[in-house]
Amino acid sequence: MPDQTIENWLRYYRDLGFTHLYRREAPASQRAAGAPATQEQRGSMKSTESHRVLPGAATRFSAAQQTGLFASSTGAETLEQIREELGDCRRCKLWGGRKTIVFGSGNPKAELVFVGEGPGADEDEQGLPFVGRAGQLLTDMIEKGLKIPRPDVYICNIIKCRPPGNRKPERDEVAACREFVERQIKSIQPRVICALGSTAAETILETRESMGRLRGRWYEFQGLPVMVTYHPAYLLRDPSRKADTWADLKLILAHLNP
Ligand code: URA
Repeated sequence: MPDQTIENWLRYYRDLGFTHLYRREAPASQRAAGAPATQEQRGSMKSTESHRVLPGAATRFSAAQQTGLFASSTGAETLEQIREELGDCRRCKLWGGRKTIVFGSGNPKAELVFVGEGPGADEDEQGLPFVGRAGQLLTDMIEKGLKIPRPDVYICNIIKCRPPGNRKPERDEVAACREFVERQIKSIQPRVICALGSTAAETILETRESMGRLRGRWYEFQGLPVMVTYHPAYLLRDPSRKADTWADLKLILAHLNP
């Protein structure tokens, strides 16, 4: 089958929501036809033992997975699969100014996930979230405050590329990127999500409420508990908010260790 035809069919299946397609040798009678699989052929894919995953076919969770159309799919995306689909992302204008995509780091089975805003200069340089000054404070909050080793939690951001001059991410940038943090959370299934600062809180909770009103209370995202607290970069500018932040962290601790 010509490459263009394969590409068209992959796009078609992706638009239908299929995340993986498995290819096997077609019977000789059909090999030259260049035709798409019939319903019957597609149905039989689930029992195919020897298969390979066609690159680029991965997309969001879909009804196809839930109906078990593809037997080898567990139904849960891994962080690696999500990162692979993010690829060399150009979904928004931030790609032009970035050095590295900062996907996230930590334990893929973390009980606690921190979500920040977006990478700064240090993160862009190193490809890791929260490694600059704000990152050091976050590490202290996790390790000295919560007494959890940082590698045991998972840390990521709403947007994966550094905005120029560290400005706040714009609406279209958040819109282009938010599905990835949502999928990261869905993959990890933590016991608690901690939204750091207004961009994370507004995106995850779809609200425009002020931080002062949001912090210190439990919310829900994908059925998982969410705590909102101040962003460490804000705490560096206004240390008087550290007491409130510690109070929020203690609520998280109490939830994790009832
Ligand atoms: N600020 C963020 O929101 N995320 C980082 O990764 C670093 C700083």
